[in-house]
Amino acid sequence: MTFSSLGLLDPILRTLDRLNYRSPTAVQTAAIPAVIKGRDLMAAAQTGTGKTAGFALPVLHKLLQEGPRVASNQTRALILVPTRELAEQVLQSFMTYGDQLPLRSYAVYGGVSINPQMMALRKGVDILVATPGRLLDLYRKNAVSFSQLQILVLDEADRMLDLGFAEELHQVFSALPSKRQTLLFSATFSNAIRILGEDLLRDPLVLDI
Ligand code: AMP
Repeated sequence: MTFSSLGLLDPILRTLDRLNYRSPTAVQTAAIPAVIKGRDLMAAAQTGTGKTAGFALPVLHKLLQEGPRVASNQTRALILVPTRELAEQVLQSFMTYGDQLPLRSYAVYGGVSINPQMMALRKGVDILVATPGRLLDLYRKNAVSFSQLQILVLDEADRMLDLGFAEELHQVFSALPSKRQTLLFSATFSNAIRILGEDLLRDPLVLDI
């Protein structure tokens, strides 16, 4: 299996080549074509499986295909994560894979001053990585709005529930357009995760790798 047979655009393939990514991992092989086609996804994937590229690459592909047209205070892809460390890590992956692409990525999380984040969101960002609490604060201050949102990703969804983010997550979901693509990644498929998936996903491809 090669990345080019998964349908990714040339600028992304060139970056993967530079990074010496020779072939996609199992989760990438299954997820990338499905996400490109527009399907919702529910994936059980641990750290180390290549899950981050499994969502980051097709998200970049889709946004690139449409051209960079994010309006002020808007975002086109929202990646929700449980912790600030993971937010920085996921942002780093988008920066690495999107290095040559005309797309803006940014991360917001709590525990640091909100003002620089409000300023950064003003121009709009194509990809926003966020922890749920800080995202809600920014939304309530009108620093971010979601009418251009097309793709929602939940990364480490089980950890978000374990950390008590259920209420914040539901408040975020209710602010998002219902016509969107949703990808849910979780280390485990607990009952709570299945219920969340049933709530959020439409006819998802289910991957348990
Ligand atoms: P993740 O499971 O997303 O935390 O990724 C684990 C590590 O594998 C990261 O350091 C990635 O840079 C690396 N990686 C992901 N996909 C590939 C691939 N297809 N080939 C080589 N390395 C990869």
